[in-house]
Amino acid sequence: MLDNATNRPELPAEIARRRTFAIISHPDAGKTTLTEKFLLYGGAIQMAGQVRAKGEARRTRSDFMQMEKDRGISVSASAMSFDFKTFRFNLVDTPGHSDFSEDTYRTLTAVDAAVMVIDGAKGVESQTQKLFEVCRLRDLPILTFCNKMDRESRDTFDIIDEIQENLAIDVTPASWPIGMGRDFLGCYDMLNDRLELMDRADRNKVAESIEIKGLDDELLDQHIPADQLAKLREEVEMARELLPAFDRQALLEGTLTPIWFGSAINSFGVKELMDGIGSFGPEPQIQSAEPRKIAPEETKVAGFVFKVQANMDPKHRDRVAFVRLASGHFLRGMKLTHVRTKKPMAISNPVLFLASDRELAEEAWAGDIIGIPNHGQLRIGDTLTEGEALRVSGIPSFAPELLQSVRATDPMKAKHLEKALMQFAEEGAAKVFKPAIGSGFIVGVVGALQFEVLASRIELEYGIPVRFEGSQFTSARWVNGAKQAVDKLVDSNRQHIGYDHDGDIVFLTRLQWDIDRIVRDYPDVTLTATKEMM
Ligand code: GDP
Repeated sequence: MLDNATNRPELPAEIARRRTFAIISHPDAGKTTLTEKFLLYGGAIQMAGQVRAKGEARRTRSDFMQMEKDRGISVSASAMSFDFKTFRFNLVDTPGHSDFSEDTYRTLTAVDAAVMVIDGAKGVESQTQKLFEVCRLRDLPILTFCNKMDRESRDTFDIIDEIQENLAIDVTPASWPIGMGRDFLGCYDMLNDRLELMDRADRNKVAESIEIKGLDDELLDQHIPADQLAKLREEVEMARELLPAFDRQALLEGTLTPIWFGSAINSFGVKELMDGIGSFGPEPQIQSAEPRKIAPEETKVAGFVFKVQANMDPKHRDRVAFVRLASGHFLRGMKLTHVRTKKPMAISNPVLFLASDRELAEEAWAGDIIGIPNHGQLRIGDTLTEGEALRVSGIPSFAPELLQSVRATDPMKAKHLEKALMQFAEEGAAKVFKPAIGSGFIVGVVGALQFEVLASRIELEYGIPVRFEGSQFTSARWVNGAKQAVDKLVDSNRQHIGYDHDGDIVFLTRLQWDIDRIVRDYPDVTLTATKEMM
């Protein structure tokens, strides 16, 4: 049977109920607060405050986390699964700071939709805009939550106009705010003709919902002061005339975003947003791969690694590979093929991330995110299948834009430093090159703050104080070509040669002139700014 909305085969119920998404926002817009309320309504935590409390307990353990706190950035991303009504939500956390864009971009390859949170007073901010552009590259469906309506906010039409103009996407109001700041009463639910009233006394109480028959219903007079009601009627009428109507197909194609207004801290508007994600959000989508695409309903399991995190638990030196299942029904203990090395892997202790605790995953379906502890075999971009040689495509790798050399302040620790750096390279936290001549390492990152994060992590997780220093090199290129041609280049340019964590050869440059020279003198080799993640 074909699904009306998507014109695709109807998915097995377990897959069809899954909604895998990320939240994109500018720091401070309310992502953490909203996440917490999601988990609260999803029954994953009992009390608001737990997410933050856990976060802080973790943070006090280290200065690195202190830095995270001071700068208001979240460095470690994770995945959280919880049920809401008939749905299973998988929320993949995106690191918020712009310096972590590489990680964030990859995270967005693992989701089917994004919730965009904006601050009602600030509108579309820089980081939101950047993340939105990434979502746009994949035409990800976007649902918008305009937060902090309990504070003095901008005019509703202004906010909607700004989104339409700055992000070039149609906006349809799913709810309409009644008043703002101190006078904020709640919202008129434009999709279901309901009145949602906010309870200011109890922040964790879900809004009172009153069923009404359109905007002329007399019930409205009982709950809304006359002047506010007149304004609401006028605005909603205007909105219905001027703004596009809700259209699920347009949402799924990424050309229209429904917007809900609310206040995460007051638990207001959150349930309506969750209902929206469930009812209108996309089911697990087809995954692009080579040599063929992977459909979620395929009975065989396939999945791909979009993130690797080392040292999640300081007591265990394990790494967790975050795998997005692209198809099938996974059962614990399954043997999957690691396509890159063609080796079988028994997945005996996969974890699901329920709230902030890990739990053994007995089973998982297409759309789910599972964590696979491993000792470094699994890398970002790797595909796991039941045997077929499929390779998931579209996971970006970025050219390192800043290079520095790094040394252990205690030379006796150089060997340990190498191990630590290799691990971070595998996590995708940095590019690490070992120069062919001399000692030490060259580290390449996308944003300057990453050097500081790395220095803190190396010291905290490995006990090695390090120093980053300017390098004579400014950029790196991977060298590809027939062995003979590559060897010739390497032999005559040793002072420019380095090796990445896979042992692949890079040409380290100081000036564009270096690259031009190689292109001219070695027509049989090619230099590339990024290496395919595979
Ligand atoms: P994040 O940086 O996006 O994760 O934002 P947080 O969730 O940490 O929120 C940033 C600040 O805004 C915190 O002080 C929150 O308490 C506050 N905040 C979040 N939601 C609301 C809201 O609905 N109303 C008001 N007034 N403050 C909020």
